Amino acid sequence: MINKIQPNISDAEWEIMRVAWTNHTVTSKQITEIVKEKMNWKQATIKTLIGRLVEKGMLKTEAVGNKYLYSPIITEEESLKSKTTDFFDHLCNRKVGTTIADLISEATLSHADVQMLEDLLQQKKGEAVDSVPCDCIPGQCDCQHSHS
Ligand SMILES: [Zn+2]
Repeated sequence: MINKIQPNISDAEWEIMRVAWTNHTVTSKQITEIVKEKMNWKQATIKTLIGRLVEKGMLKTEAVGNKYLYSPIITEEESLKSKTTDFFDHLCNRKVGTTIADLISEATLSHADVQMLEDLLQQKKGEAVDSVPCDCIPGQCDCQHSHS
């Protein structure tokens, strides 16, 4: 779990961040060239998205000559962690296991990925509890009858 509160970024902003994460330092023109194949966005749209990311503290900007260079402030890893933590925060603790299982069953995994998960599960076996405590408020999940 990470403590830092991360800004909420939209799917469109995420597309821009991926370019910044991959290329470290980019101009808005480079971002436009990279995403135009995938997203049918105009330069103006991309500039708006970049502006929002700068305001949100996701990108920093530096003026070099007559152009602006953008680089990520928050890493891809931190953002992904925060996104998944966010998602799991909206679930009953007792549904986390089956949700993870669903994610795994739908994912295409390499042998190395499977090995990593196997190792992790071996380790988790030692820490497993008999029953995961539910901390939902009554009316937001089905486990409330077992709260008392
Ligand atoms: Zn619950």
